[in-house]
Amino acid sequence: MIKINENYKKLQSSYLFVEIAKRVSQFQKENQDKEIIRMGIGDVTLPIPSVCIDAMHKGVDDLSNTKTFRGYGPEQGYDFLREAISENEFKSRGADISADEIFISDGAKCDTGNFQELFSQDTIIALPDPVYPVYSDTNVMAGRSGNFANGKYENFIYLDSTESNNFIPDLPSKKPDLIYLCFPNNPTGATATKDQLKKWVNYAKENKALILFDAAYETFIRDESLPKSIFEISGAKEVAVEFRSFSKSAGFTGVRCAHIAIPKECKIWDKAGESYSLHSLWNRRHSTKFNGASYPVQRGAAAIYTSEGKKEVKAMIDYYLENAKIIRNAMINLGYKCTGGDNSPYVWVKTKTSSWDFFDSLLKNAGVVCTPGSGFGKCGEGFVRFSAFNTKENTEKAMTKIAHIAN
Ligand code: PLP
Repeated sequence: MIKINENYKKLQSSYLFVEIAKRVSQFQKENQDKEIIRMGIGDVTLPIPSVCIDAMHKGVDDLSNTKTFRGYGPEQGYDFLREAISENEFKSRGADISADEIFISDGAKCDTGNFQELFSQDTIIALPDPVYPVYSDTNVMAGRSGNFANGKYENFIYLDSTESNNFIPDLPSKKPDLIYLCFPNNPTGATATKDQLKKWVNYAKENKALILFDAAYETFIRDESLPKSIFEISGAKEVAVEFRSFSKSAGFTGVRCAHIAIPKECKIWDKAGESYSLHSLWNRRHSTKFNGASYPVQRGAAAIYTSEGKKEVKAMIDYYLENAKIIRNAMINLGYKCTGGDNSPYVWVKTKTSSWDFFDSLLKNAGVVCTPGSGFGKCGEGFVRFSAFNTKENTEKAMTKIAHIAN
């Protein structure tokens, strides 16, 4: 008899977006003439920069000619992309990550989800609350969570991100082995300073722990004093791995391309205390289970590092940041406390009712959809997330409608 992985029965959280869709579709059925503006979306809406489109066309043309044809590429990614990433994303900011420490993939969701495979079953996980659900769910699937009770898994250490710590979690009292951090944060939009990251790097060193740093939204950081990479912090190369994606920086959510930076000095240990290179282990895993991101897509991704590409990406991020500012200012003017939205595409708004009551009232009275914070974890209760990924026109319209019901 074929048997289920019992851990899958412990999964909770696909409920959030299913429930939102259900409530929106019910509202639409009952109010067919009413316009609905979706401010909850995490997907981008602007087209991919034209330099990337041109490079992808050229990449496809290369495949039509015997001389330039490519079949299976290197599993780790083509050198032209790994070198461009190393120079432009890391070395240009003083982070010493070389091209051969970068692994290209087809998405940060798979990367952040798959990476936990390298660690032992009894690894103690610390993750933010509220959280991007992939970190939690993949460790539930792997059997590290224990049971779910009162909104929490019993074996996880939750790093509460609350108003009282400005949504930057404090060091935990219980010691974890693996620590997930995400800045700029999804869902809160909070960003960490160098000093705050330094505290985590020192903690990981003292405890022989590893930090998995998700920087999927780093392109939105405009404050030059804030770190975009954990590798801007000295000592981080020994204790951290960083995940990045072209999804939000270049509109590649449908095209799929991302990368992980794994420094060669990063180590993990076996039961006997012998150390292993994390870089070598991931290389083994990646080349066993992945056959490389597609060549035209990698050509498209590399185009963002040309001077024209940099201009187009900047204009695209400026557009979303302008939307974030519109949301933030409108909600602050209405008397709501907000986090994020300045160096991030998400605005985290403190509601005066429960997350779901606020969601329902906004949908019913303004036709605007947000994301209830409670769906991201216990500490998300009493908050909602607005996303800046809609058009400017819709963002302004949504804020006018919300102001109208509030007055
Ligand atoms: N990490 C975070 C924090 C995200 O919010 C998302 C997507 O919303 C991802 C990773 C996934 O990125 P990708 O599209 O590269 O899979």
